[in-house]
Amino acid sequence: MSTRQVPTADPAPRPRIILHADMDAFYASIEQRDRPELRGRPVIVGGTSDRGVVSAASYEARRFGVHSAMPAAIARRRCPDGIFLRGDMKKYAAVSRQVFEVFRRFSPRVEGISLDEAFLDLTGTERLHGPAVEAGHAIRAAVREATALAVSVGIAPSKLVAKIASDEAKPDGLLEVRPEEVLGFLRPLPVERLWGVGPVTRERLRAEGLFTIADLETERPERLAGLLGEIGTRASELAQGRDPRDVESDRAPVSMSEENTFGEDQRDWERLAAVARGHAESVAARLRRSQWRAHTVVLKLKYGRRVRSGPRGFEQITRRHTLAEASDDGATLGREAVRLLDAAPRKPVRLLGVGVTGLAPARGPTQLDLLEQVHDRHRAARLNRALDTITERFGSGAVTRAGSERGHRAALSLQHKHGEREGDEED
Ligand SMILES: [Mg+2]
Repeated sequence: MSTRQVPTADPAPRPRIILHADMDAFYASIEQRDRPELRGRPVIVGGTSDRGVVSAASYEARRFGVHSAMPAAIARRRCPDGIFLRGDMKKYAAVSRQVFEVFRRFSPRVEGISLDEAFLDLTGTERLHGPAVEAGHAIRAAVREATALAVSVGIAPSKLVAKIASDEAKPDGLLEVRPEEVLGFLRPLPVERLWGVGPVTRERLRAEGLFTIADLETERPERLAGLLGEIGTRASELAQGRDPRDVESDRAPVSMSEENTFGEDQRDWERLAAVARGHAESVAARLRRSQWRAHTVVLKLKYGRRVRSGPRGFEQITRRHTLAEASDDGATLGREAVRLLDAAPRKPVRLLGVGVTGLAPARGPTQLDLLEQVHDRHRAARLNRALDTITERFGSGAVTRAGSERGHRAALSLQHKHGEREGDEED
């Protein structure tokens, strides 16, 4: 008896190939590379002042339980013999540019998440670079050749799984999760490995007897939605291995901001206004360089008074004002920031930040082909610009305008948010 092949009307779409690359203990590894006497020792970047937090910890420091985002005081207690360094953002940004140059050799679609972490869409690049796992090894080798640093790589059909895979591959490893392996890979992991499941959500799930991703996979989606709303629906999808988010290399930033923590709480509103104007000037300069304008000015104040224990326990307010017309002018943004400041409760201030959101392109192109050009140029240049900005900011601390003032530089932080998540976490 003969069999006949029935042609499938709708062949399954080819799975995407997404690679997540994440430098190992980036800042600390750069310091150990450049200062051989630090190799093999617990190096902690950041947290040199008692009020700061750790930016990066070498693997030797992690053995003492030190990790990024940990308050300096706790890190010192856990690792009293640790070598605490202020860090050199200018240097790290320069290394980051080298790393991203390597990434772009392997795919035109690179989505930078932070200085040391990116997603690459490798779908369709096999003809050039071979199977994904070979490309992954080649990327690791090329990064090492360019920088003498280790990058860990995860490869999977989705961003979620690629990111978890690179975590699992650390340090200095590569892990590929093939489409048919996704569910088996996810099942034993704790629920908090899913995007959107933080400590609070984790506890609520635990209270319901849901501990692993397998527990979520087999739970009725309606029950998870009833329990957690939107997050529950998404967690259910992710637990089934469904994460449709694409690598977005041309995404517009959703906000830019700059903030600083003062060495001592500030009560002088004149001085605070000067700091706000300084931040506004610097944010405006970044807007101009990256050809955006902002509709909304945001002021963030953290007061010295504690309302809870823990590093996030300080009273914090944000105030925003939407302009009649989008602006990239420092004086305009500064004026609004100061107005918001003047209307805020007058209590000792620990942290002041100025940001903008509601970004729009500075110039609307008039023709379609021009639009295409602008689009391409933005895609290629956007992350570079972000990095240039950071380099410039940390490298040119001497330049300030009359009436503007920078805060305590040790605690200065820059943010360039792309909507996914805050990209400053280091591992
Ligand atoms: Mg990292």
